[in-house]
Amino acid sequence: MKLINKQLKLMLVSTPIGFLGSGKGGGVELTIISLIKGLILLGHKITLVAPKGSKLPFDSENLEIILIDGIDQPSWQHQKRNDPVLIPFNSVLPKLWEVVIDLANQSDAVINFAYDWLPLWLTKVQEIKIFHLISMGAESLVMKEIVREINQLFPLQLAFHTKRQSKDYLLNTEPIIVGNGFDVDNYLFNENENGPLGWAGRIAPEKGLEDAVKVASDLGEKLLVWGLIEDKEYASKIENSSSKGIIDWKGFLPTIKFQEQLGQCRAFINTPKWNEAYGNVIVEAMACGVPVVAYDLGGPGELIEDGLNGFLVRPNDVKGILKAIKSISSIKRRNCRDWFEKKASNKVFAKRVENWINKGLNKDLSLDLQD
Ligand code: UDP
Repeated sequence: MKLINKQLKLMLVSTPIGFLGSGKGGGVELTIISLIKGLILLGHKITLVAPKGSKLPFDSENLEIILIDGIDQPSWQHQKRNDPVLIPFNSVLPKLWEVVIDLANQSDAVINFAYDWLPLWLTKVQEIKIFHLISMGAESLVMKEIVREINQLFPLQLAFHTKRQSKDYLLNTEPIIVGNGFDVDNYLFNENENGPLGWAGRIAPEKGLEDAVKVASDLGEKLLVWGLIEDKEYASKIENSSSKGIIDWKGFLPTIKFQEQLGQCRAFINTPKWNEAYGNVIVEAMACGVPVVAYDLGGPGELIEDGLNGFLVRPNDVKGILKAIKSISSIKRRNCRDWFEKKASNKVFAKRVENWINKGLNKDLSLDLQD
């Protein structure tokens, strides 16, 4: 029996770390934008509550945006394990949630994209159904604990991007994995097998840019680098310790320009030093037909099928990356694009999220999530 889709009214609450388009929110920004488009294509009505300045690259009669002014939240990425919850004076985070609590009775469900304590805790004390797409591994004890509690109380209201990411948390139930998704129309397939090497991500220590620079240096080649410089000291340390001209800084580009340049690469290198929750840039590279060589740490291990769309290498094994780059021509660029279209388009992602929400609202008992 085929279930008939019912239109859902969903309130999506954006990351409080920066406005959409600032780059400060990292991969979550693109996740939200792609998901909104995917959910609208499925016929749902969306209200986005986001920090002031946020912009979406499309419009729809099924989309309403509420913008809230306030100070950016600090990211948990750079807190120490035992650090307490921080809420700065005039922070946008509680302001976002004041609006959500006020308006939530007009929606079937609220989906939270903030990796922060307050929205998770509110789930315990509010009548409204708040669903959380957890976007990071467990970097701090207080976050690990609140995720554990919500899993015990409302297991169907938590989802993760990958199984590996979810393993960071103490969960009582089998985790709901929704993967991630990207707008297929935004990424063009590029056939060129002879381009340069590329790397992209926030320029911050957990992303391990220095290892990719070593690989490029050993090959005597340039490395094209895209991304927001989050840690200036770290960026200049890498710049100063590499030979002149190895790093070609491309800056932080909007998706359309980013993918155009990315697609010219013959290989994309991804060198995380932490349990990467997903790794958007890996899939964006594949979307353009670019094979990826990555450390087998977190998300990359579930996105790269060794020998099909790239190669997986032991974490910190720079020589392993070098070796894999030398045999990159054995990967068919078309396979990378095909993998993307099948597993990580915004449509398949939105479908998985729709199933998750319906399940959480007790509307559909057949859960068809990521395989
Ligand atoms: N990105 C971008 N322009 C650039 C370089 C990167 O928009 O020039 C975006 C990219 O599309 C991705 C995000 O930056 O969505 C990085 O996300 P990822 O999941 O790789 O890592 P995170 O920052 O979330 O840890």
